[in-house]
Formats: sequence, structure tokens, C-alpha cells
Amino acid sequence: MRTFAKALALVLFLSGIALNEGQMAQYEKAVAAIPDVEEIIVYVGATGTKYHRENCRTLRNGAYPMPLRDALNEGREPCKVCEPSV
Ligand SMILES: [Zn+2]
Repeated sequence: MRTFAKALALVLFLSGIALNEGQMAQYEKAVAAIPDVEEIIVYVGATGTKYHRENCRTLRNGAYPMPLRDALNEGREPCKVCEPSV
């Protein structure tokens, strides 16, 4: 669905459909606000409430991968050490 929204925005843009500038800006803003979280895998330790990059040094005790979406659904926050970009 999100991918579809982006594709739609691209099609509209390429086909030159006349959205006025205000509409276009609004649309671009909306599309930009949609994170591509579906394919992103983050790493989660056995304990803790953060999510991490795979090579985070705080994950010495083992970590398991999980889709970012699931991590966010669990209320996890990005680690301050490895600073996942998302
Ligand atoms: Zn980390």
C-alpha cells in the first residue's frame, strides 16, 4: 500500500498531471513521511527495549533479527550506541 502510494506519486509526476503546487507539495510531504519499514531488519537483544544495527557492540550476548515494523509495534526505540538510521 505504501509502495503503491509512492508509485502513484511517481506516475502522477511523470505524466505531468496538473496538481497545483500546493497539492503537489502536500502530496510529496505525505509520501516522504511514509517510512519504508517493511523490508528493514533490525536486531534486538535478549533483554532491553531498543533495536540495533546488526553489529552493535551492546549486543554481545546475542541478538535476533526482527522487522523494524515489529520492533516499532513493540514500542522499541533506536539504540543510542549504534544509532539505527530509522
Ligand atoms: Zn545498539
